[in-house]
Amino acid sequence: MKRTIIRGGLVIAAPPAAPNSGATDILIEGSRIIALGENLAAHDAEEIDAVGRIIIPGLVNAHMHTWQSGLRGVSADWNLLEYLVWIHGAAAPLYTEADLHVGTLAGALNQIACGTTTLGDWCHNAATPGHADAAVEALTDAGIRAVFFHGVPRGGGPHDAGPHPATEVDRLLAKPAFADDGLLTLGLAAPGPLYSPFDVAQADLSLARDRGLVISMHHSGGPPCPPEVWTRLFDQGLLGPHANFVHANQIDADLLKRLIDVGVSFTITPEVELNDGHGFPITGKLRALGAAPSLGIDIETGISGELLIAARVALAHVRGQDYEAFRAAPDDPPPARLTAGDALAWATIEGARALGLQDRIGSLEPGKQADLVMIDARALNLWPNNDPTAMALQASLANIEAVMIGGVWRKQAGRLLYGALDSLRVELEASGARIAAAANLPIRRLQA
Ligand SMILES: [Zn+2]
Repeated sequence: MKRTIIRGGLVIAAPPAAPNSGATDILIEGSRIIALGENLAAHDAEEIDAVGRIIIPGLVNAHMHTWQSGLRGVSADWNLLEYLVWIHGAAAPLYTEADLHVGTLAGALNQIACGTTTLGDWCHNAATPGHADAAVEALTDAGIRAVFFHGVPRGGGPHDAGPHPATEVDRLLAKPAFADDGLLTLGLAAPGPLYSPFDVAQADLSLARDRGLVISMHHSGGPPCPPEVWTRLFDQGLLGPHANFVHANQIDADLLKRLIDVGVSFTITPEVELNDGHGFPITGKLRALGAAPSLGIDIETGISGELLIAARVALAHVRGQDYEAFRAAPDDPPPARLTAGDALAWATIEGARALGLQDRIGSLEPGKQADLVMIDARALNLWPNNDPTAMALQASLANIEAVMIGGVWRKQAGRLLYGALDSLRVELEASGARIAAAANLPIRRLQA
């Protein structure tokens, strides 16, 4: 079995904990980490020099609609309603299997380039089994670890969804791509209690529970669910660690506490939430209840794919709220201070928890999968490295020197190890241009 030893890096093994003191070696065998320590002996391993680099667990982007990559940038100035009308109402029905494949592949490759090793790929445009297969194939082609959240388009309106098709879930589960030891896991992308009738939400949550799958549900905008909806879902035991809510901006503190108490996870997409009008990220509300968010990019139609930016936005937002509250009531006890290490934890282990993968990924420790990122701290923007945690959080795409997923290098020396980017670009541009034109998207063009 192939062995690799990464020597001499500054290792932040388990954010928010501080980095290991001194230079640390990481020994990898096959897909797993088998040892961390100083001056490890490993005569038969491939040696990788990591002096001057910061090594962090691979980032976990817990929520992204990767299929939309061909429409990058088009919704940068739209609000949530405009996004729904144009992307879901006009563009989504035009996607062929090939569009889904190229969008997912390009989006997933860029995630790797940005340091994401695990992607919560929320594919709610799998109109047919062929569309789902195309997206799954693209994730496999990219070499990324992912939870493929299978979702079907909702047609003419938010309440048109029937129950999630169980036969399709079972068909997907039987695919070799979802074997236990592989990079892909199946999940359900469902409308949930806010965006579907009670019977549908109940059926979808039951299906996920019965199949042992994580079910992820958008929850923002629109009038709140009636309290009896929640009561019935709690009473039936349908809410637990397998349930993930995305955004959750309008969920009040009492309900949030009940959901946290049964193990429900929350994914925020702070940059999109603030830009598009979802409401404010719930980072501070979660902290008050002893919980923490995971992070997502959500839509590359609106923002860039760099998860470390999402982490910085989330941290800046909650700190801004804290300082505002302090100005308004300076005698109140201050809330617990959130740190750069916390933000890195949201982007790593909290994402792993939200995706149900915390036993496999999210930190660098023996027995876990070798999913890691090497940040080149020798770069001009990261000198001097006074605080490796701060430098890791402030790293840009240009600093992501190398990315390993399951013991396999997917990026090295600053370059993706994927051969056909030029032809992929041509294909993605053609796909996006065709869909944007056919949907008549109101996008800004260059002046003639
Ligand atoms: Zn979303």
